[in-house]
Amino acid sequence: MSESPVKVLIANRGEVALRVLRACRALGLPSVVAFSEADRNSLAVRLADEAICIGSAAASDSYLKADRIIAAAELTGATAIHPGYGFLSENPHFAEICRDCGLVFVGPSPKAIQLLGDKAAAKATMQKAGVPVIPGSSGGVNDVASAEEAARKVGYPVILKAVSGGGGKGMRLVTDAAHLPEAFQTAAAEAKAGFGDPSLYLEKYLVAPRHVEVQILADGKGGVLCLGERDCSLQRHHQKVVEESPCAALPPEVRKKMMRAAAAAVQSVGYAGVGTAEFLFEPSTQNFYFMEMNTRLQVEHPVTELVWGIDLVAAQLQVALVGALPWKQEELQPRGHAIEVRINAEDPTRDFAPCPGQVQFYHAPGGPGIRVDSHLYDGYVVPPYYDSLLAKVIAHGENREVARRRMLTALEEFTVEGIATTAEFARALLESPSFVKGDYHTDTLQEMLRD
Ligand code: ADP
Repeated sequence: MSESPVKVLIANRGEVALRVLRACRALGLPSVVAFSEADRNSLAVRLADEAICIGSAAASDSYLKADRIIAAAELTGATAIHPGYGFLSENPHFAEICRDCGLVFVGPSPKAIQLLGDKAAAKATMQKAGVPVIPGSSGGVNDVASAEEAARKVGYPVILKAVSGGGGKGMRLVTDAAHLPEAFQTAAAEAKAGFGDPSLYLEKYLVAPRHVEVQILADGKGGVLCLGERDCSLQRHHQKVVEESPCAALPPEVRKKMMRAAAAAVQSVGYAGVGTAEFLFEPSTQNFYFMEMNTRLQVEHPVTELVWGIDLVAAQLQVALVGALPWKQEELQPRGHAIEVRINAEDPTRDFAPCPGQVQFYHAPGGPGIRVDSHLYDGYVVPPYYDSLLAKVIAHGENREVARRRMLTALEEFTVEGIATTAEFARALLESPSFVKGDYHTDTLQEMLRD
């Protein structure tokens, strides 16, 4: 790193703020944690070298407020901003404002975010790079009539998606033409409320695919590393619950093709930093289709870190600050298998209702191959304003079964008292015959919950 270390402003909260703080420390970089009033007592703030309040509890008045974040960097002398995931991490305007203010945005260029972060535009970019994409509307669908026309072309079932969407919001499955007008209105309203942008696009809905995503790490000068894939098919309402690497169902030749497609995609835009190309894979036909690109760190990045032995957040910082990566693809070898379980402050017995409140007691599991990324501590009050992720438990082992058994032991040990969590639900899921066999798809969890 450079002689006088760059100071990094961490513009996020929860476990990821802590994750970035740790990476900064490992690289000897001073950092500042930017926090909202509701996060004054968060673990990242408690452990920070320095912290600065950027507004009230509402994210729209703090973590999403670009001018406050820039002002916080200027006030504290930070010259780089790490956006974590969510909030402003995929906002090309924010990346541009950082650049215009002489600050390093730890992520790809505004142009790369623009080209790949906009879901409809990304599909067009990919198609040009020769990557197979899910059949659907070319660009957005502006009204019910154009959605109907696109649906007729690809055939039902179809899915309407928010152009600016994420986290499974603003998405509607439409089984036949009669339901399209109503679904269009609801999806557009949800997209407007959630992302300030009602624009939608339409895709053919694939039945029972697997969600397989490729981790990319690029140096911005044409060097691209492909760090294998993650299977994130176990989802509730299109939101990931368990992730694993490698994908148990992916034949080696399909994996190779998928890696090549992901690399081609980012090479076409001179990408820098980490990124994830998401695909849907159809085991019955062995076909895969590009779905979207996430131009940021993913929640599930630890499974890749354990299998490939790379600190992805440190690598992000290295690319942003030094513009180079210390590895070549041929020097990197994946090792074993990793599984991540997301533990949320939700009550599975009440349809996963959010359960904010005070943690009376917290015990984190340990042992060989176990990693816990969490901002919990005894007495911590989980605020009701943000997403409900409490902890990620990640298990690594020489093969899938070793990792799975380590995870079961870890989940048995994992204890949170005072609020409901999804830990026990996750344990049952890992013991289900579908998971044991590795035989599941994107609807499996919803089917289990209906039974
Ligand atoms: P978000 O960005 O909101 O997470 P994605 O586009 O990544 O949305 O999709 C989330 C999940 O929704 C996918 O992993 C998959 O399970 C489901 N999904 C999305 N598009 C399709 C499709 N065309 N066919 C079948 N399932 C889909």
